[in-house]
Amino acid sequence: MSKSETRTAIVIGAGIVGLAMARALAEAGYRVTVFDRHERAVGASIRNFGTIWPIGVPNGPLYARALRSREIWRDFCDATGTWYAQSGSLIAAFHDDEWAVMNEYAAMNEGIRPSRTLSAAQVREHAPGVVSKGLLGALMSTDELVVDPREAIRNLPAWLTERYGVEFHWRQAITRVEHPYVWSGRRRYAADVIYVAGGTDFETLYPELFERTAITKCKLQMLRLEAQPTFQLGPVVCGGLTMAHYSGFHATPSIGALRQRLSEQYADLIALGIHVMAAQNGRGEITIGDSHEYGHTHEPFDESAINSKIVDYLRTVLDLPNWNVRQSWHGTYAKLTDGHRSELVIEAEPGVTIVNGVGGGGLGMTLSFGLAEEVVNGTLRAETGTPATAVVR
Ligand SMILES: Cc1cc2nc3c(=O)[nH]c(=O)nc-3n(C[C@H](O)[C@H](O)[C@H](O)COP(=O)(O)OP(=O)(O)OC[C@H]3O[C@@H](n4cnc5c(N)ncnc54)[C@H](O)[C@@H]3O)c2cc1C
Repeated sequence: MSKSETRTAIVIGAGIVGLAMARALAEAGYRVTVFDRHERAVGASIRNFGTIWPIGVPNGPLYARALRSREIWRDFCDATGTWYAQSGSLIAAFHDDEWAVMNEYAAMNEGIRPSRTLSAAQVREHAPGVVSKGLLGALMSTDELVVDPREAIRNLPAWLTERYGVEFHWRQAITRVEHPYVWSGRRRYAADVIYVAGGTDFETLYPELFERTAITKCKLQMLRLEAQPTFQLGPVVCGGLTMAHYSGFHATPSIGALRQRLSEQYADLIALGIHVMAAQNGRGEITIGDSHEYGHTHEPFDESAINSKIVDYLRTVLDLPNWNVRQSWHGTYAKLTDGHRSELVIEAEPGVTIVNGVGGGGLGMTLSFGLAEEVVNGTLRAETGTPATAVVR
């Protein structure tokens, strides 16, 4: 194909969804231009844990998509020297009901996933920070990978430009789309195909379509502790509350009893959508979170009471040398509310596709690279036909 015949694509949004779309389009031979309203990405994609989290999705197509995404993350990180760790994940059990669910989960996934239960003594070998008192054991999975989103999402555009010639237009909000054109104020650009990956901005482009869609916004509070470089957290560490959130655990016979106990013991945390994880980055900093609040408009202020509840719960699971908080913030992602879709991929008009709500909203880092390939290659099952993930993150 000559240069003049090269098909062109515009992607709106340089969060992980837009960047993954840009990569998949470039791989398919498109000349790609990405627009973002900010000078650099500052949305959900740099505010998250940075966990590539296969354990958060059910077996089947979503699990395969998570593994494919992880492969692309590794390729990108290896090519650019971007830090990552295949640290896996560990959920610690301090109650019989947690331990029962873990054993059932490990048995059900034998030969399907690399997960297994560990004794308390084995937990100490893998994750020395886990509280010893009352520890029954843990569920360990080696699937999970961690990046530092602030570094990774900032490095991705340069890699896309260098490797594929993707062009970025920063500080250019797209204010109108009418295929084959997009406008940024009065400036007009054209492409054969247009993808809208605007995250929680439902108001600027196709607002009437978003009004009709079962979608809202989820605000999550997060904290980062000071660096503790001589301490090794090991895997991403979670407490029992986490199992109530993951659809992968929902088929275990004991999940009902676990949920019942958690809803009585931690009613306040559950009301705030708190389930707690801790992930360590290459500088030794530990990111912890999070809470979940749903609605189209959130208070811009963070509640220190929520942060305290997150830390207090984590202290029942982890014993860290340094609990000093370096930063706190919140992020907001687009959350699908119909409970059936695992992503929103819809044609807004011929030639224009909206890609949003990946993994129901909270799994964009885990699933976007694989999803983008399926969208571009036309292998995405009919109208987001993969089963919904019940993960609420
Ligand atoms: C606190 C938190 C923790 C999370 N943890 C994880 C995790 O560990 N693992 C995981 O897999 N997922 C996690 N997630 C979910 C993940 O972060 C999101 O699914 C993902 O970042 C969504 O990506 P996005 O590209 O749709 O949105 P964003 O990253 O918000 O990007 C949207 C971009 O579009 C731009 N934009 C919008 N409208 C326009 C316009 N009109 N013109 C130009 N530019 C526009 C914005 O400026 C923005 O840069 C977490 C999310 C949060 C908030």
